[in-house]
Amino acid sequence: MFCSKCGKETTENSAFCAGCGASLTGGQPPKKKTQLSLAAGIIDIAAGGFSLLTLLGMVVFLFIISGVEEDMPFFIFLFPLAMLIPGVIAVVGGVFALRRRNWIVALIGSIALILTSSIPGVAALVLTVMARDEFE
Ligand SMILES: [Zn+2]
Repeated sequence: MFCSKCGKETTENSAFCAGCGASLTGGQPPKKKTQLSLAAGIIDIAAGGFSLLTLLGMVVFLFIISGVEEDMPFFIFLFPLAMLIPGVIAVVGGVFALRRRNWIVALIGSIALILTSSIPGVAALVLTVMARDEFE
């Protein structure tokens, strides 16, 4: 690609011309503000929050059952309790995505969401990766 101002050949993906310093992005600001991080954050919080409520309901249900069924093994509680952790991480990551604060935390939140709800999790992960430039 060549600089539109001075005609000097420029390296691929460079934002400014090495010869004259002109912007090579066509006058557009380098950081495009889109709504991808907002969408990712909403999915993280909504799906993560929903899975938290579901899992808490499951724990309460199992607790009630355990009152009736005396010899119910404790490990049955471990699955919903363990799944609460990625749910919390997903909600925290969603808050960071909404505020465009820390991309890594938002990314971890989306990955954690896949563990609790796969389809919204994958959608949130794709959106978070695409929204990389929106974060500080
Ligand atoms: Zn130039």
